[in-house]
Amino acid sequence: MVERVLVMGAGMAGLWTAMALAGPDREVTVLDRDPPPPAGGPDAAFDDWQRRGVGHLRHSHAFLARLRTLARDRHPALLEALLAEGVRELGFEGSLTDKHKENYVPAPIDRDLAILTSRRTTLELVMRRYAEGLPGVTMRPLTFVKGLTIAPGAPPTVTGVVLEDGTELAADLVVDAQGKGSLAYEWLSEIGVTVPESAESCGVIYFTRHYRLRPGQAEPARGAGATTGDLGYLKFGVFPGDNGCFSVTLCVPEVEEEMRKAIVDPEVFDAMCRELPGLVPWIDPERTEATSRVFGMGQLESRWRELAAEGQPAVLGFFPVGDCVVRTNPLYGRGCSFAAVSAHLLLDALQATPDPAQRLIHYRTGIERELRPYYDVMRKADRSAIRRARAALLPPKKPTLKGKLAKSFLEDGVAIAIREDVDLLRSFLRGFHMLEHPQAWLKRPRNLAKIVRVWARGKAANAALYPAQGAPGRTEMLQAVGVSPDADVQRVRAQAA
Ligand SMILES: Cc1cc2nc3c(=O)[nH]c(=O)nc-3n(C[C@H](O)[C@H](O)[C@H](O)COP(=O)(O)OP(=O)(O)OC[C@H]3O[C@@H](n4cnc5c(N)ncnc54)[C@H](O)[C@@H]3O)c2cc1C
Repeated sequence: MVERVLVMGAGMAGLWTAMALAGPDREVTVLDRDPPPPAGGPDAAFDDWQRRGVGHLRHSHAFLARLRTLARDRHPALLEALLAEGVRELGFEGSLTDKHKENYVPAPIDRDLAILTSRRTTLELVMRRYAEGLPGVTMRPLTFVKGLTIAPGAPPTVTGVVLEDGTELAADLVVDAQGKGSLAYEWLSEIGVTVPESAESCGVIYFTRHYRLRPGQAEPARGAGATTGDLGYLKFGVFPGDNGCFSVTLCVPEVEEEMRKAIVDPEVFDAMCRELPGLVPWIDPERTEATSRVFGMGQLESRWRELAAEGQPAVLGFFPVGDCVVRTNPLYGRGCSFAAVSAHLLLDALQATPDPAQRLIHYRTGIERELRPYYDVMRKADRSAIRRARAALLPPKKPTLKGKLAKSFLEDGVAIAIREDVDLLRSFLRGFHMLEHPQAWLKRPRNLAKIVRVWARGKAANAALYPAQGAPGRTEMLQAVGVSPDADVQRVRAQAA
């Protein structure tokens, strides 16, 4: 029997779902509220594609090794098409320090550690064209879903969707890929179905501006200064893109209200970039020109939806994927990989059993196994970053010995050992890129021994391994760009008093 699958949403998760489920066993129809991509290539998609359904479409994106390996291994023609349209593979070799290079010998795993970079519009354009060419897949753009049809039962079963004009479409399976703003959980709760969720703020606001290399210009050489970094009061990153484009993201803690207000002004944004030595050559007007305003995005949340609390499915025939099932802080660049992994876990569940309840349990078990460890690590890191950003505005506290040791172990041990030892870097990146459990590398005694050895040598002996400094502190940065450094300090201290 051919199964009829309706996918609500043609963003990352909807497209990965269509690609995973395509084939003779299913008819997959992907419904999206937005228009299809305009005719033309990546520049037309960036300039003209109207995507009210994806507010973050024009924010910086990079795509982790897990996503790239899924494309390479399951959809090699897609990877080929992406590269042909200018999407770039940044290989492991590009992350090596001078110290690593002294005795670097390529290993087979290095081929798995490459990432993809491009404007998100470029990746999505090529994925969309690839997905709609697959057998059994139909795209229905400009199709707004406004509800679900649900058959009563214990638990109830989703049997289809209702469109804006009242049309009902029937399905054997409905996949929710409507992204972070999906209303499906409200539709379900209207008939008494609760899908429990836990959510908390990521504590940051994202600001992105796009640039393009001028004709004949090349990207600055690597290693001239940090192109990504975490200063506590600000995180920053250059995202190399496709076809001579790149973007810069400045990520501001929510607690820094004055900085947040000022940074949307392109002049302030560029002025802040000029204070960061590694970014200066990227936004040098001789080399590059800005191609966009500053895009801002707040209300960033981590959220986990529980599909089968205590092993009991809340609803059958309904599978949330991507941001609908797990949403994470964009800073870690994992959302699109989560979308790709969840789509393939759904395929595994459908292939494992025809039983609707068992399918949901199978899917949920996969999500817990594959995504939970990263989710937990990211939330912990977010909480600590929120505390750190707030502490920067409060009178300095004398650190405890335990706190000092933990900070030193991370900054002078782990971070420095990774910059020295290629195998350690590989091991760390495997976790970072979701190719193994995020903490597995730190549990290996051999890795731990290397870190302790480097840490024990002390800062002076390791001086050459530290990355180039030169970024200003919070007060200097804000003064340099004409923003009061004191207003938020006074506000936060008054609140704390
Ligand atoms: C600022 C920012 C930066 C990010 N950077 C990265 C990064 O560098 N790397 C990374 O991997 N991830 C990143 N992410 C996360 C990543 O973008 C998301 O995880 C990813 O888009 C989730 O895919 P999705 O398909 O679930 O949702 P979306 O991509 O948001 O797609 C949802 C789709 O559903 C459609 N839709 C919604 N409602 C309806 C409806 N009622 N009817 C029909 N269609 C509907 C929308 O039009 C849209 O096409 C970032 C996120 C943000 C916010």
